Amino acid sequence: MVELRLHTLQYTANFAILLFVGLSAILCRFWIGLMICPQCRSAECFRSRRSGVFDFLGTAAGLRPWRCHTCDFRFYAWTVAVSFAGYAHCMRCGNFDLRRVPADRVPLGVQSFVKRRLGCRAYRCDLCRLKFFSIRPYRRILPSMVAFQKAVNS
Ligand SMILES: [Zn+2]
Ligand SMILES: [Zn+2]
Repeated sequence: MVELRLHTLQYTANFAILLFVGLSAILCRFWIGLMICPQCRSAECFRSRRSGVFDFLGTAAGLRPWRCHTCDFRFYAWTVAVSFAGYAHCMRCGNFDLRRVPADRVPLGVQSFVKRRLGCRAYRCDLCRLKFFSIRPYRRILPSMVAFQKAVNS
């Protein structure tokens, strides 16, 4: 009886671990390092192979080629696509869905000290908890939910 209960416990634990791993894999895939297609806003973007002179010139500028699997659009990106880089975003994960926070919540550093003095707005990224200042205008760019749900269901 005790053995049976132990077995059940073990199975429950295993199931919980599997569920956790699966969920975090999905979350990592879609939320950490989120890349949004500048043409259709799909999050189904994948790194494209470098080819040609422009790709290697781009590499020198820290740009990487990406391809959207929803609309087949090829584009260049840093943490976010070049055409979105002018808007405030999280430098770590590329999230645009940011929350305004008081300036004193951002940890002190050389850059943040200067930016605070310049009167930049302070933001917090809810996905990776990074707090930072940004001089760029805010625009809430979200991945299109149709593409996102399709990816989750498949
Ligand atoms: Zn696209
Ligand atoms: Zn982030």
